[in-house]
Amino acid sequence: MVIPVRIGILALQGAFIEHEKMLSSLGCEAIQVRKTEHLADIDGLVIPGGESTTIGKLMNEFKLTDRIRDLAGDGLPVFGTCAGLILMAREIVDSDQPRLGLMNIVAHRNAFGRQVDSFETNLEVEGLGPDRFRAVFIRAPYIETVRNGVDVLASVGDKVVLAKEKNLLAAAFHPELTDDSRVHSLFLKEVEKFLANKKKIRAIV
Ligand code: GLN
Repeated sequence: MVIPVRIGILALQGAFIEHEKMLSSLGCEAIQVRKTEHLADIDGLVIPGGESTTIGKLMNEFKLTDRIRDLAGDGLPVFGTCAGLILMAREIVDSDQPRLGLMNIVAHRNAFGRQVDSFETNLEVEGLGPDRFRAVFIRAPYIETVRNGVDVLASVGDKVVLAKEKNLLAAAFHPELTDDSRVHSLFLKEVEKFLANKKKIRAIV
């Protein structure tokens, strides 16, 4: 029997259903995470878009913050999108809101300005080949500074919008809102590496 890869999706607030659909369509078992028990035996974790201050507070309330930090420190792949990127940043410009603080990046919230609340653009993404990725931005942050160990995978002008640091991936946009699964597949590559290191036999089915 083949056991599918199990991906947890933080489901406290925001756009978690769309990630669930995308990951299920890619052959993963998607688990909604609301309590620490749900973090047991997952092979990767998605922190979705939504309202980063609300998600951060709820993560603390449900005692998820420290547990997720420990798992990420042990190599669990974590993928944050939009509010998820903000929560993964070690520093957030002008904010002391609760966060995971996993990545060596400085996030700037709502950073594209009010006039362009939401927009779409075709992104050139490192590692995805020549076809551009249609990226949907909704009151999006960007990464103002990347520090040691962080690779920039995509930018809009001089604003970094996709970055990777070891097992951690952060996107300022919403790849779950398109039919293009290539950014999720980048994350699943990390999951495969993680499983291989753990010698766990699970597959994308
Ligand atoms: N602006 C939101 C925040 O700061 C993020 C928006 C989103 O996730 N679509 O939390």
